Parts: sequence; structure tokens; C-alpha cells
Amino acid sequence: MTIKTRFAPSPTGYLHVGGARTALFSWLHARKHGGRFVLRIEDTDLERSTAESVNAILEGMTWLGLEYDEGPFYQTHRFDRYEEIVQQLLADGHAYRCNCSRERLEELREGQMQRKEKPRYDARCREHYVDPDEPHVIRFRNPTEGEVVVNDLVRGRVVFNNAELDDLIIKRTDGSPTYNLSVVVDDLDMGITQVIRGDDHLNNTPRQINILKALGADLPLYAHVPMILGDDGARLSKRHGAVSVMQYREQGLLPEALLNYLVRLGWSHGDQEIFSLDEMIELFDLSNVNKAPSSFNTEKLLWINQHYIKHADPARVAHLLSVHMGDLEIDPALGPDLVEVVKVQRERAKTLVELAEISAFYYKDFDLYDEKAMKKVFTESAVAPLERTRTALTALDEWHPQALKRAFDEVVAELEIGFGKLGMPLRLAITGGSPSPELDMTLYLVGREASLRRIDRALQTIRRLGA
Ligand code: GLU
Repeated sequence: MTIKTRFAPSPTGYLHVGGARTALFSWLHARKHGGRFVLRIEDTDLERSTAESVNAILEGMTWLGLEYDEGPFYQTHRFDRYEEIVQQLLADGHAYRCNCSRERLEELREGQMQRKEKPRYDARCREHYVDPDEPHVIRFRNPTEGEVVVNDLVRGRVVFNNAELDDLIIKRTDGSPTYNLSVVVDDLDMGITQVIRGDDHLNNTPRQINILKALGADLPLYAHVPMILGDDGARLSKRHGAVSVMQYREQGLLPEALLNYLVRLGWSHGDQEIFSLDEMIELFDLSNVNKAPSSFNTEKLLWINQHYIKHADPARVAHLLSVHMGDLEIDPALGPDLVEVVKVQRERAKTLVELAEISAFYYKDFDLYDEKAMKKVFTESAVAPLERTRTALTALDEWHPQALKRAFDEVVAELEIGFGKLGMPLRLAITGGSPSPELDMTLYLVGREASLRRIDRALQTIRRLGA
């Protein structure tokens, strides 16, 4: 039997990290077993579902590289099929019409609350005839006895008493199907073998199993993954900062870093922290998913991101970085080669946004010098080294790191000064104070014209400061 998993988001917001982790686990499980991964958009809540949210989900999945083999399927396109199943359940006596008024249900609920009972429908319409032409909902006739055992792949054995479950609505007065019905029909029609989802759905599972049994269907296996908490122990939400996957992209995360972080959030393989995608696919196992909630830790996420910035193929980093260079109004195509810049700068940044910021000076003149450094190194004693360097650089036949290094050595020897007396002002002149590699490499990448222009600007600044 082909393993088939699905990710079934409701398009009522962005793709958040919790959803992305569920999607990742489902995707990994399918990939590991040579199965198929389905994307299903659960948009039956017409009031809360939006097209923007659908786009945000698709965009997030694409950015993360969680490609799906089937779908996206939209539940709103499948209403006829849900209706067919509702009619089948009615005909087989597994469902019934209910015309209890809102007032009656409200009263029932209040009485139960007062008696400290769990609010539930009292099944009054089970044995009533309700005219199909009058307004009504359709309820599932839940078994009243026995229990439902869920052998959850994460939680283990979880038992529910049927006596605890009431007759849930499967079709509303307006004719629309409810969540529990559409999920069951879809999981069945799409041949889902493992339902992997957040544990906020665990209580729906016995209801869904009962409907599947009424339809005579084989049951899928279930895996409920625990929720993600913020660092304060409360459920992760917007107030903990970025929770939307695309916001992480904006903040300069590499998708592989976010995936690596997410896979470790609630799953482990010994104490290994860094997993390539292939390793994740090979090693991931639902049985190693934690039962307890996991806490989101931004510092660790950044640590992993830094790891990927340092170790990923520089061409790939450059490719992802170019978007952030664009945000700074820099066109890396105008040179120097962004891959070369990545190679020399990447040790120094935790995010692509930071990497873009500290690399901007290669492409455009900075606005301001670092204030503290300026006061310290732009003094009278910097004038001669900078002037001599300017002359030496103008005369260079070739602009490459070795030639630049020779020129600096000559200036230092001629003036009989330590390298720092040239190095510090020159570095500030060229970079404005951004972190940078060896000076020969820095000037090489900045280029001759910009280097000379910036040395002139530094000399003017020193004169102004001294005046
Ligand atoms: N649409 C549901 C949600 O976004 C998920 C349903 C499921 O996975 O069964 O919470």
C-alpha cells in the first residue's frame, strides 16, 4: 500500500511555524517511505478563509521546498461529494435531521453548565421525524456505547468513551458541511494512510473514526504532534515575535535552516543538531517525536541559520542574499561578484539581512563612518599613510590582492610605521566601519575607483575634524 500523508491547513492566516512543522513531518514521512504527500486547503469556513491566506500558504510551502505530489485540493470544490456522503449516512441510518432551535440548544447548554455537566446535545431529534423542507441541520448518530481506541503513533494508546461524545453536526442549516465531515471524506477519498496533525485535533479523532466506521472504511493511522510553546511557556503566538514562515524569510533565514530547526523542534536523533534534507528523510521517524510540547528558541534558530550561512554552497547563499541586497537598493550584478563577497563576509553574520548590511560597502559608498572609530583613527597621523597609499594605488599596474598587499608593505616600510597605523585608518576609510576581511581582499573587491574616492573622502574628513 502506498503511504500517503497530507497537510490540511485552513486558509485563515499566514503559514505559521506550527503549521510548517506539521507539514514538514508529513512530508518527511511520505518521502522516507517513498509515499505521496498531499496538500489540501480546508476552506469550508467561507467567512474566515481568504485568497491571500491561500497564497501565503502556497508561497511558504514553495519557499521551504515542501513540494506536494497531489493538490492543492480545495474543499470548496468538493461540496457535491460531501453532500453525497451525508445522504448515504442518512439513508443508512447513521445520520438524522435535527430541527432543534437555537433557543432550545442554548437553554440545554445553560442547564448543563449550571449542573456542572459537559455541554452536549441530548439527542432529542434522534427519534423524531423532521420534514426535509423545514430548516434543519444533519447530525451524525454517534454510537452510545463502547469505546474508541486510538493507537496514536506519537501519543500511544488513547481511549475515548462513546458515552462522552455527542451527536455532532455534519451539515449546517445553510447546507455547508462541517470540519469533521469534510476531513473524513477527504482523508478517505484521497487514500490518506497517516494523518499527521497538531494535537489540538486529538479530540476530533474518535468522532472521525466513528464516521469512518459508519462508512465501512479502513482507518488511517494517526499521529498527533504536540504544540509549540514560546519561551515563556505559553502557546506560541504573534506576541512572541515572528511566527509566519515568510517573515523568517524577510528576516534573512535560509529555508534549509528553518527546516533544520523545525525538525528538531519536537523530534530528536541522539544529540545531533544539524541535518541535511537527505539525513532528515533517512532518519526521521514518528516514533521519536516527543510527546511533550517543545519550546521555540530564537537564539538556537539563529545559531542554526549562522551554521548554514557559513557552510552552504556560497553560490546558493549569494542567490538568496541578492534579494536582501535588492532591499538595500543594491544591484549585485554591477559587481563585485556576490559569491566572492559571500566567501569573505559570511563568517560574520547570523542572518542574510545582516550579511547584506555588512556587505553593502562593496557596492555603494556608505553614508556615515562609525562614530567611535572615526574619533579614534581619523587623526593627523593618518594623513601621511593614507596619502602615500593613494599614490601607490594610483600607480598600480594590476588590481589584485597580491599587488595591493605589496603596495601596503612598501608604504609601511617607507614611513617606518607599524601596519596598524596604515591599516586602521585605511579600513575605516574603505568600509566606514563594517566588519571586513584582510585589507588586500577588501580593497580588491571594492575596486580601484571606489577605493581612491573613499581615501579622498577620508582625507577631507580628517582635515575637517582637525579644523
Ligand atoms: N484544517 C485543520 C487546521 O488547520 C487541520 C485538520 C487536520 O489536519 O485534520 O487546523
